[in-house]
Amino acid sequence: MNKTKAIKYAQDFIISDGHIDLPFRLNKEGLLFNKNIDLNYETNGNFDIPKAKRGGLNCPFMAIYIPSEKKENEAYQFANSLIDLMENVINSNKDFNFAYSPSDVLENFKNGKISLPMGMENGSALGNEIKNLDYFFKRGIRYITLTHAKNNQICDSSYEKEKKWGGLSDFGKLLVKEMNSIGMMIDVSHVSDDTFFDIVKISNKPIIASHSSPRVLTPGFERNLSDEMIELIAKTNGVILINFGSSFVNSKSNKIFTDINDDVEKWRVEKKFKSDDKEVEEYRDQLINKLNPFADIEDVLDAIDHVYNLVGDDYIGFGSDYDGLGNTLPKNLKDVSTYINLIEGLIKRAYSKESIEKICYKNFFRAWNANLQNHQI
Ligand SMILES: [Zn+2]
Repeated sequence: MNKTKAIKYAQDFIISDGHIDLPFRLNKEGLLFNKNIDLNYETNGNFDIPKAKRGGLNCPFMAIYIPSEKKENEAYQFANSLIDLMENVINSNKDFNFAYSPSDVLENFKNGKISLPMGMENGSALGNEIKNLDYFFKRGIRYITLTHAKNNQICDSSYEKEKKWGGLSDFGKLLVKEMNSIGMMIDVSHVSDDTFFDIVKISNKPIIASHSSPRVLTPGFERNLSDEMIELIAKTNGVILINFGSSFVNSKSNKIFTDINDDVEKWRVEKKFKSDDKEVEEYRDQLINKLNPFADIEDVLDAIDHVYNLVGDDYIGFGSDYDGLGNTLPKNLKDVSTYINLIEGLIKRAYSKESIEKICYKNFFRAWNANLQNHQI
C-alpha cells in the first residue's frame, strides 16, 4: 500500500537532487573527451537513465567537482572540460535536456525529459577573477560550493584542521556579494563554521547546503550542519539538501569510515599512489567489505526528521552525493532508483503528501527561483 503510493508520488512529483557526481565519475572512467556518451543502460554507477526513470528522478544537479590539488588555471580548465563533458552527455541522450532555471525543469518534465542542471563544487576554478563568475554562470553553473577538502582563495574548509582565513577571505566576501547579484546560489556544504557565519552575515539571498546532514547525528563532524546553522539557513529561506552517505547520518558509521580513510591514506602514501588511483579505491573497498560500516535508510529518514522537527517542512530536500561516495551508501538507498524507498519511509513516518512534494523539489526550487530573481545578467 505505502509502496504503491510511494511509486505514484515518485512518478507524479518532480524529484530533484542537489548533488550527483556523474561528471567526475565519467572522468574517472576515462570519458572526459568522448563526444558520444550513452547512459541509457544499466551502468555500474549510482546514476544512469534506467535507474533515474525507475526512481522518478527528474532534476539531478551535476557536480562540476574540482579536486583541491588543481590550482588556478588547471582548475579553470578542468571545470571547463567537465562542463563540455556534460554538454556531450546531454547531446548524446535524448532523455536528457539542459536546464538553467526551475521553469526549464518544469518544461522538460512535461516533455518527459530529465534535466541536468549544474553546480560547481569548489570555487578554486574562479581563480582570483570575479569576471569568471559571470563566465561560469553563462556556461550554466547555478550554484558554487565555495570550497572542497582544503582551504582555498575564497574561504576555509571544514576538513582542514589549520584554517587559513578564519572564515571568508576578502576575495570571498566580494564573491558572495557578486553571487547574490548575478543569481548564483551559494552552497555552504564543505565550508568551515566560521566561513558559514561570514556568509550568513553578508548574503541577502536564500542559502543552500547542496549535500550536508545534521551534525547532531555525527557529533564533532564539522562537514555537517549544527542546529544553529540549520536554523540560520531556514531564516534565509534556503534549503538543506540531505546527504545520504553513511558517515553523514550515523556516528558509528562515521567513526568506522574515518578509521578506514586514515588507514587508506597511510597505505596510499606508503605505496606512492595518487588519491584517485584505482588501486586506492580497491584497497578501500576491501576494508569496507571486512568492516560492514553501512548506515541504514532509517538513519537518512532520522536526518530528515531532525530538520523537520527543528524548522518544519519548508527547508528540506535531497542531496544524495550519489556517484561521489563510492561504496559508502546506506542499506536500501544504494542508487537513484531508490528514492522510492525514501518516499515510502516518509509516508510511514506520517509525512503528508504536501510535505513530501516540498521535500522532493518545491523547497529547492523556491530557493533557486529566489536567487534568480532580479539577477543582473
Ligand atoms: Zn562534496
